[in-house]
Amino acid sequence: MCLVLTLFPFPLLPAENPGPPPPPKSADPLLSPTGDFSFGSESILKACWTEKELRGSPEDKKDRPAPPGSSGPPERIKPKNRRAPLPVELQGSIRSVQPPDGEKILALTFDLCESHGEISGYDAGVVNYLRENGIRATFFMGGRWMRDHPEKALQLMADPLFEIGNHTWSHRNLRKRTLGKIKEEILWTQAEYELLREKLTARTCAQNAGQAELDKIPALPLAFRFPFGTCKPGALKFLADSGLPAIQWNLVADDAGYDHTAAQLARIILREARPGAIVVLHANGHGYNTAEALPLLIPELRKAGFEFVTVTGLLTRARKVSNYSDCFELKPGDNYRYDFITGVRALPPQRKDRMVFPSPVTGERKPRI
Ligand SMILES: [Zn+2]
Repeated sequence: MCLVLTLFPFPLLPAENPGPPPPPKSADPLLSPTGDFSFGSESILKACWTEKELRGSPEDKKDRPAPPGSSGPPERIKPKNRRAPLPVELQGSIRSVQPPDGEKILALTFDLCESHGEISGYDAGVVNYLRENGIRATFFMGGRWMRDHPEKALQLMADPLFEIGNHTWSHRNLRKRTLGKIKEEILWTQAEYELLREKLTARTCAQNAGQAELDKIPALPLAFRFPFGTCKPGALKFLADSGLPAIQWNLVADDAGYDHTAAQLARIILREARPGAIVVLHANGHGYNTAEALPLLIPELRKAGFEFVTVTGLLTRARKVSNYSDCFELKPGDNYRYDFITGVRALPPQRKDRMVFPSPVTGERKPRI
């Protein structure tokens, strides 16, 4: 399905129950008819963390085993705020957009996945390169990842360069989950973001910046990404009702699936980059050479005339959005191996090929998740 985008902007609805007042309009970039919006506040970022704290450490990249009980729910299980349902043009699984003629815009997205049993990392090299070079990007954060990395989550949330998306609570294959569990995965993550945002806005360093700066940090994550890129119609419908565009991708370098060199990763992306593309990469320490690829890639893309935007920036500037009723990596059905691996179905022998995915560089085929 590929439909013309006409209905921006769309509003935040008031909270269902009495609670804090709805955020002011400036907190929701999709409300801006001019495209002039912010995803955070430079003055809050600089006031609340030192340069050293923002730079992080190579140690942050390492995985740790999760302590028992770490998959339990957040303190709040339902967000107080909610967004208006999506217009039909933004429903379904969004893979790319068609920008206005001549606009070479592209969205870099980085997943911060955290699965059951692990505490995944934070790739400071990725974030530092983006900050040093003023590159806009979208980070899809797991809810558990936010809770396990509160300072990093807050730093990314406060940074005006970066947009935050929802990557579910515990990174399950949602095609395997009941609708009730799917809703939990989505809502718990929205609620965890809200809780963290409230903690930040209560800090003196943030309050001193003033209400106008606080309002620049969106009240909720603005987009959503399915773990493994696997979805089902009930999940897409719930996201549409919740005002969360389901962002897939059309450019996968597979930085977490193969130990590509930085040069190989950069070559794949440079070869496939098109105006309106959505690129998927990882910043949770599971990407091989992701940070090292950026200095090879970004200057070349800039030289070719590309401008980097967040996914919301891409959607607000799109002439058309390419959206689908199914989710896949590069072609329909190519992520069914996750159903097999997570036990949701047995693959018929003739479809065993769906368990493997060829390396975009070498063509090598091997089972992986
Ligand atoms: Zn993920």
